[in-house]
Amino acid sequence: MKCCKDIQVQLADFAVGALQEPERAEIERHLSGCPACRRELHVLQQVGTVLDALPPEEAPVGLWDAIRRDIEAPEPEPVRVPWWETLFPARWPRLAYAGIAATAVVAVALLMTVSRLAPAEDDETQDFIQRHGMLAWNDPLSDKASLGVMLARSQMGREIQ
Ligand SMILES: [Zn+2]
Repeated sequence: MKCCKDIQVQLADFAVGALQEPERAEIERHLSGCPACRRELHVLQQVGTVLDALPPEEAPVGLWDAIRRDIEAPEPEPVRVPWWETLFPARWPRLAYAGIAATAVVAVALLMTVSRLAPAEDDETQDFIQRHGMLAWNDPLSDKASLGVMLARSQMGREIQ
């Protein structure tokens, strides 16, 4: 049994006769007992009547030729980006590189701090942690310090076992 919201999603199709059985019958059953959906259908039918009364709009002269030209135009050559640009995009401000460097320093410091801690996770959990950490590392907004600590802990646990 569909609720009014589900029915109203299909009412526009119903109003123009675009629904097939059994959806059509289901909507008719619902409409027979639901004044709110009948009102909604009435509004949609009025909109359809107004739209049908409008004169057909002609496409602007040259529109189809312009669309065909766009479709048939050759693909633009992909822009070649040097490998160092992918590592250190020029659009990043210097402050971002300073932030990355500072984060790396903090990560190394934390790494050295936690190197004596032994986690209790099993191999499968540590695999998951390492894979997650590696994937998250590429996100420019990721917390590299926390990721570094997490990866180091995971690696330590593996070596201790
Ligand atoms: Zn209803």
